[in-house]
Amino acid sequence: MSLSPARLERFARHIVLPEIGGAGQVALSEKHVVLIGLGGIGSPVLHYLAAAGIGRLTAVDDDVVDESNLQRQTLFTERDIGHGKAVAAKRWVCAFDAKIDLTIHDRRVTAENAGALFADADLVLDGTDNFATRLAVSDACVAAGVPLLSAAVGRFQGQVVAFAGHRGDQACYRCFVGDAFDAEDCDSCAEDGMLGAMAGWTGTFAALHAVRVLLDDVSTFGDPQWGTVHLLDGMTPAMRSFLIAKDPACSGCGSTG
Ligand SMILES: [Zn+2]
Repeated sequence: MSLSPARLERFARHIVLPEIGGAGQVALSEKHVVLIGLGGIGSPVLHYLAAAGIGRLTAVDDDVVDESNLQRQTLFTERDIGHGKAVAAKRWVCAFDAKIDLTIHDRRVTAENAGALFADADLVLDGTDNFATRLAVSDACVAAGVPLLSAAVGRFQGQVVAFAGHRGDQACYRCFVGDAFDAEDCDSCAEDGMLGAMAGWTGTFAALHAVRVLLDDVSTFGDPQWGTVHLLDGMTPAMRSFLIAKDPACSGCGSTG
C-alpha cells in the first residue's frame, strides 16, 4: 500500500524522520487501535493517534459529558454536556480527518463483550479509571493475543505501561496489580482530584508509546518496552521507569493460572 499525495503532505513531518519514514507512516495507516475510555487520558490519545494517521480507530465509552469533565477532557466543549462521549468523539474525528475509519461503542467494556471488540486489533489502549474494567480488558487482551497499553493518572501522578501478557515471557496488567481489585469500582479522580494537564501529559505520553508499539519491527522508533512502567511525576517534575516481571501464578496470563 502507498499513500496518496495528499496523505504524504499531511504526514510529511513524520515521513521526514528517519526513525519513522515512509514505511512507518504506511504501517500506521494500516493499524487498528481500540481505545477504551474517552476521558482525561482518552482525549489526548484520540487527538494524537488521529493526528498520527492511524488508519482504523475504535472508541469505547458509555459515559455522558459532564461539566466537571471540561477541566481536563479536551475532546469536549460546552455544547457536548449531556451528550454521549462516544458520539462527541465521533463528531471531532469526522471533522478532523474524514479518512479515519472510526467505530464508536456507547457501552462499557466487560469480560463478556471485550473479546469481540479486540479480535482484530493491533493494540488496545486502556485509559479507564476503574480496576474492574482494567482487569477485564487485560484478561481479554491476553486471550485475544493483543498488546495492551495501559495509562492511568491521578492527582499529580501518571503511569504508562505496554503489556504483552499473551507472550510466555511477558507480564500482563494483572501480574502488576494482582487480583484484589476485581470487584472494586474505584473512581479516585472524583475523590482525590487531578491537575488537568497531568491527564494531558500522561495521555500524550501514552500516544507516543502507542506509536512505539505499533512500529515494532517496522522502523527504528519501534520499541514496545514491554512491562516497563513509566511513572510521570508532575510535582517535581520527573519521570522514572522500572521493569515488572511476569508472575508465573498470575490468573490472567500465568502457566498455572
Ligand atoms: Zn499476568
